[in-house]
Amino acid sequence: MTLRDLIIKGQDILKASDIEDYENDTRVLAMFAFGISYTDMFMKMTEDMPDEDADFFMDCINLRATHMPCQYITGSQEFMGYEFLTEDGVLIPRQETELLVEKALELTSGLKSCKALDMCTGSGCIGISFELKRREDRHFDDEIMLADISEDAIYVAEKNKYKLGAKCSIIKSDLFENIKDRYDIIMSNPPYIRTSDIDDIMEEVREFEPHIALDGDSDGLSFYKRLAGEAREFLYKGGILIMEIGFDQYEDVRELLINNKFNNISVIKDYSGLDRIVVAYATEHDY
Ligand code: GLN
Repeated sequence: MTLRDLIIKGQDILKASDIEDYENDTRVLAMFAFGISYTDMFMKMTEDMPDEDADFFMDCINLRATHMPCQYITGSQEFMGYEFLTEDGVLIPRQETELLVEKALELTSGLKSCKALDMCTGSGCIGISFELKRREDRHFDDEIMLADISEDAIYVAEKNKYKLGAKCSIIKSDLFENIKDRYDIIMSNPPYIRTSDIDDIMEEVREFEPHIALDGDSDGLSFYKRLAGEAREFLYKGGILIMEIGFDQYEDVRELLINNKFNNISVIKDYSGLDRIVVAYATEHDY
């Protein structure tokens, strides 16, 4: 079969399975299955594809038809310009989360060396891209720690660390349980979906992404309570806590931060104009 016929077949299957972006997803899976670039795809449309590759492509299409996200099929997602491995057990890196990394880089750009903690690291995308970008900016003496409670996440974060050549430590820890040090900045994209809302999120997320990385308990705030309550002990005076939040959580998170003596609290909106990233400073200390 020609590439064009296979692509048409793939699109028909995905469309019939109610995959919204069926045209794009078919192209993504074709590039992956045939190992070709976007331009190649258009040049090879009339070529016959080897049976083996065509079968593999159809396997990928059939997986996508079950609503498995493309990123779990291809095993990767780009984040901050780096290709991160994505596997069962870690959240797929989201575009909004790049805003957190960009802001964290901006806020620490004046630090010659930086001690940073990525709490609830998952695939490692926040901490690893932060370290790589800072090194590109000629900051060579950072100490970056990635922490997660999940063994699966630690495993994927380790693989991403080696794949991308990041300089960081990775530790299994239930929030701050095994953290000993203090940091200039703590970055976190914790689980923040209300348990009752999990049923309503897209099938792709609900059925395939790890609930441990999504579920923030009945009010969606349980991790912010713990982060706001404990983070100051792990920050230097003037240290920064930067966290991703749900679009309707800023007021609650702000209050938690104020009650825990954080200052200069602000929020950054995402590309859709929704509150997404909270920044707060630990200006007081209880050594
Ligand atoms: N932003 C994610 C989503 O849309 C949720 C991430 C999280 O809970 N940290 O599903």
